[in-house]
Amino acid sequence: MSKILDGNMLAKKIKSEIAEEISRDGLSVGLAVIIVGDDPASRIYVNHKKKDCEECGIVSHEYALPADTSQDEIVALIRRLNEDSEVNGILIQQPFPKHINVTEVNETVSPLKDVDAFRADTFGKVGLGVAVNPTKSELRVKALCLRPCTPWGVMELIHSTGESVSGKECVVVGRSNIVGKPMALMLLNESATVTVCHSRTRDLGEVTRRADVLVSAVGIAGLITSDMVKDGATVIDVGMNRDSEGKLCGDVLCDSALMDKVGFITPVPGGVGPMTRAMLMKNTLTAKKMQS
Ligand code: NDP
Repeated sequence: MSKILDGNMLAKKIKSEIAEEISRDGLSVGLAVIIVGDDPASRIYVNHKKKDCEECGIVSHEYALPADTSQDEIVALIRRLNEDSEVNGILIQQPFPKHINVTEVNETVSPLKDVDAFRADTFGKVGLGVAVNPTKSELRVKALCLRPCTPWGVMELIHSTGESVSGKECVVVGRSNIVGKPMALMLLNESATVTVCHSRTRDLGEVTRRADVLVSAVGIAGLITSDMVKDGATVIDVGMNRDSEGKLCGDVLCDSALMDKVGFITPVPGGVGPMTRAMLMKNTLTAKKMQS
């Protein structure tokens, strides 16, 4: 088995299953994508998501707004989309221009259309573990639960190794609300022993060397080096950075010393990124089912 966890391949499989279900059941599924301003990276991400929608048979509705669009106008648009039966999911491409209140925008999205899973109550369900560990009465919630796309994609990549995280030492580097924190909760929900590191962690290497599964979600190229990784570890690189030549790279310095050591590793690009987008498609289909 290859050491490389191929996110492109796994994402393709997930998207083809979604396409099959949509076509088999004759579903009409729509995703609204709101982009504010002209950040070139955001434009690339939005174009990728449109292509994913096409592959899955999901209709994408794009709303490209100028950078000076007011908070009130964005909120009004989201309220309109909340009521639009042709729109099952609402995604607002981040980062926002500085004058926008991110929390208010995220909380305006209907809980039934929160496909990015940025709302506090959606996050809360991940914390409660209903998404993976339901009691009988929670089974319906399990089936119809929206989950944060990036950590969910990471869990799918870990599952694809055939290994369980139960009882394992898992270290998450980064504690953001969209990646690090939900990541730690999802690992904990599957009975891992989880440690979360951040910018104040005193000796990062000392902690990461204990990890059977190491997830780095920081945004610093080359932060994780081979001497910080345990032999045989599964290394998941969420980071998306540019190196000195402008090439896309992760947080992990992927040299031959590291490749000799790891059990499994995700490449950048082609690891977590495509899986994040595949899980967004899955959430959009789930949202459709929640609304019916
Ligand atoms: P944030 O900037 O919100 O969070 C970064 C985290 O890293 C913070 O918790 C911060 O700590 C921590 N950190 C910063 N410096 C260090 C350090 N030297 N040692 C240890 N921890 C440190 O970023 P995001 O979570 O939004 O994203 C993280 C990375 O993942 C980025 O590169 C982003 O582009 C990428 N990303 C990739 C996605 C994908 O689909 N592949 C999706 C989302 C993000 P503190 O809290 O103390 O400041």
